[in-house]
Amino acid sequence: CRSVDPATRAPSKLRVATTSLAGCFGCHMSLLDIDERLIDLLELIELDRTPLTDLKQLGRCDLGLIEGGAANAENIEVLRAFRRQCRRLVAIGACAIDGGIPAMRNAFTLRECLEEAFIDGVGLANRGIPNDPELPLLLSQVHPLHEIVKIDYFLPGCPPSAEAIWTLLTAVLEGQPVRLPYRQLHYD
Ligand code: SF4
Repeated sequence: CRSVDPATRAPSKLRVATTSLAGCFGCHMSLLDIDERLIDLLELIELDRTPLTDLKQLGRCDLGLIEGGAANAENIEVLRAFRRQCRRLVAIGACAIDGGIPAMRNAFTLRECLEEAFIDGVGLANRGIPNDPELPLLLSQVHPLHEIVKIDYFLPGCPPSAEAIWTLLTAVLEGQPVRLPYRQLHYD
């Protein structure tokens, strides 16, 4: 359970970071869907790097929530940084757990995907495949997170419902095992 700061005798807040790798931000939207309970949540946690704060630096955290699989070199770098800095990591949503929709490209070679996206697709003006060195290098396959780093919790759904996210967060905050009721396991 949460530690107590001896100086104040108040419970110290859990520090939480979130990020989106190869995902659509739908899982983050679902997190926001916990609505007015966000106010209660912010009494118990403080946010580190997350699209919600737009902080760019990742500090030491108790919990990291990651949506999306790993599709490029930058995703791998961010994922490894989260693993180093976060005591516990949550793969949130289908893309993080098994690659999800972005992993549909795994049935094709990377060249086939790029040619379809930038050269051969209907209505394209064939301006060539972008190769700016600033762009993160694409991986040949999209990977679920657990293939790259150890993951502590898997929260299924596309996206997981706000209720499922709330169940996970409250269990972690209370130092309890996470038990999702069956009705919270769905993909719509
Ligand atoms: Fe979007 Fe669904 Fe992937 Fe979440 S699991 S990032 S909602 S596609």
